[in-house]
Amino acid sequence: MSAALPAPRPFPVQAFTRIGEENAFAVLARATDLAARGHDIVNLGIGQPDFATPPHIVEAAVKALRDGHHGYTPSVGIAPLREAVAADVHRRLGTSIDPGRVMIVPGGKITMFAAILMFGEPGAEILYPDPGFPIYRSMIEFTGATPVPVPIREANGFAVSADEMLGLIGPTTRLIILNTPANPTGGVTPKAEIDALVKGLERHPQVAILSDEIYDQFLFDGARHASLLAYPEIRDRLILLNGWSKTYAMTGWRLGWSLWPDGLFEAARKLAVNAWSCVNAPAQYGALAALTGPQDCVAAMVAEFDRRRQVVVEGLNALPGVSCTLPKGAFYAFPNVTGTGWGSAKALASALLETAGVATIGGPDFGVHGEGYIRLSYANSEPNIRKALERMGNFLSEARAA
Ligand code: PLP
Repeated sequence: MSAALPAPRPFPVQAFTRIGEENAFAVLARATDLAARGHDIVNLGIGQPDFATPPHIVEAAVKALRDGHHGYTPSVGIAPLREAVAADVHRRLGTSIDPGRVMIVPGGKITMFAAILMFGEPGAEILYPDPGFPIYRSMIEFTGATPVPVPIREANGFAVSADEMLGLIGPTTRLIILNTPANPTGGVTPKAEIDALVKGLERHPQVAILSDEIYDQFLFDGARHASLLAYPEIRDRLILLNGWSKTYAMTGWRLGWSLWPDGLFEAARKLAVNAWSCVNAPAQYGALAALTGPQDCVAAMVAEFDRRRQVVVEGLNALPGVSCTLPKGAFYAFPNVTGTGWGSAKALASALLETAGVATIGGPDFGVHGEGYIRLSYANSEPNIRKALERMGNFLSEARAA
């Protein structure tokens, strides 16, 4: 008798062998687990403001529930919120956008998911920043497209180089991804560089642009945000990603917005209908209160981040073998750790968590060009930041002596 055949097992399509991760969530899980087992952990790993969502926003969402907003909304979001997004963009950036092309989506990530799905397929190339938010590459690989990293260099202030990016565009490039202010570096790309990029894109009319501007209000030292929205000549191929997660300390609400050009809006709307129907109704009313209510909560949070930024960078530069440029945006420091003697920044990040009780993220989790760096999110209290720096100093000094 022949041996019984193994039972057929369900397995997903090939694409799922290529989908990646965001290691910040794995580090968060490990840090939480260590803390639950009695370890004193300072978490500088995850990128979310440590502030509570401002109370008037919470109240608006609670009121929406009490007022009976329990049902589906239009898949592209409630009209007053789409209009409030357009009004907010006009107030902050002086640019007019059509509320009819704004989509309310469940978080910032969904816009990159949708945009990369729209342009990624085998044979297509997509340019993305490296080091950069890890989901860009993960999603590009998921679609079967070829990821083309655009190196983001410390020597260039962690800004995008227009020349370098334009030089990487080839005949099969379908989409380029920009992110300023940037995760994980805190780099801000100056307007002159964006001007040069947009000018160069005239030669590549087939290339779409995804501009991830989720940190656009986290700017320091007088740095200005150069939004891609300021360029009418690329508006017909620009997808803009933004949201409430960072600006209003609303990461868990899952709220974002995107702007789509005429030719892509319908595709994005259909994806919404197929995948998520609409964004949680009361959350949309919270988002409306965020945009139409007082903005001093944003200014206060940014001012607090600015104070911590000084503390963290000064402290990092005092550590043996560590040097850190002062980031001009977002809420991350991206110190160069090549002088510590640790050949692998991921191994250093892991040792810092397991031995010193400080959660950080290894630079290679953001791409190959992140080797030699670690990311610290300074979305934690100043006393905790000081405690983390002291522990890191002790750890690095002891490791040197050993
Ligand atoms: N884009 C960048 C550059 C980010 O750093 C993040 C989150 O860390 C996102 C998008 C996603 O934001 P959300 O939590 O709203 O999905």
